Amino acid sequence: MNISVSKKHFLRINTWDDIYKMSGYTDSLDPKKEKLKQVINKYELPNKGKCGLSNCRTPHNIGCIVETESGRLTNLGNDCGKKYFGENFTSLSNKLSKEIDYSNKIENIKLAKLNIAENYRKLNEIEADWKRIESVYRAIKSEGLDGLYDKLEQMKHSKSSIIAIQRRATKPEIELEEVRTGKDVQNPFYISDNLGDLKGLNYLTNRTKIKTIILNNKIALERLNNFDEDKTTLKELSKMIKENEKLNDSVREAHCIITDGFKLFSADNMRQFTPLISSKRHRKLRRFLNCCFES
Ligand SMILES: [Zn+2]
Repeated sequence: MNISVSKKHFLRINTWDDIYKMSGYTDSLDPKKEKLKQVINKYELPNKGKCGLSNCRTPHNIGCIVETESGRLTNLGNDCGKKYFGENFTSLSNKLSKEIDYSNKIENIKLAKLNIAENYRKLNEIEADWKRIESVYRAIKSEGLDGLYDKLEQMKHSKSSIIAIQRRATKPEIELEEVRTGKDVQNPFYISDNLGDLKGLNYLTNRTKIKTIILNNKIALERLNNFDEDKTTLKELSKMIKENEKLNDSVREAHCIITDGFKLFSADNMRQFTPLISSKRHRKLRRFLNCCFES
């Protein structure tokens, strides 16, 4: 697209006064006496104002500012534009829409570029946190707490955060079960006691995403850094904006995963497994809990 408006500044219209104060503005333009020169701005306002055509004056809140050959400016709705200035209005209005879109996209990229350093900082922070969490995760195995490791794997696959322990039912519990079901229970009969609810279990499902997120985003930031928004096509601009939105979304996602990781490997959360670990290994467990995060 051959638009040399990348440096053109579109004044944002926020109130009707912004329009009335424009130099050359008239609130009573006679369309029969004027020839349309250009559509110069668009607005969408919260309250209604009158159409600037002397034969219309219908209140509306979405419209555009037009300039006529005589140098006068007024505001009108799209219906009036088409009705009084015909095809010429439609094509000038479409041209302006494209220019505004193009200019907004360039602004968007310029803003994204200002955030590059901050995004690098965020990625490095995510990477450092991820490494800390992973080293705690590895400590489970290096401390020889394989039972705990397997339990976490099992909970990850079942997607259940309930920490439970199985034990033989007591005599009254067996009797209660027989009354409840109206049948003799099979011996031995086991009951599952809930020990607690594990926080942050999703970390285990999502932990491998972090590496990809960091890698992809560093590539995306470098591409953004090298991108020349003043010498490009609308299509390339749109692509770069989408990529940047994806980057922001995935940084948010990575933050959620990291938060889960800190919750999962907090000492209080992991301590809930103590009754499931044989007392022989409690010294190892204490050493592991010391590696864990403060809650
Ligand atoms: Zn009108």
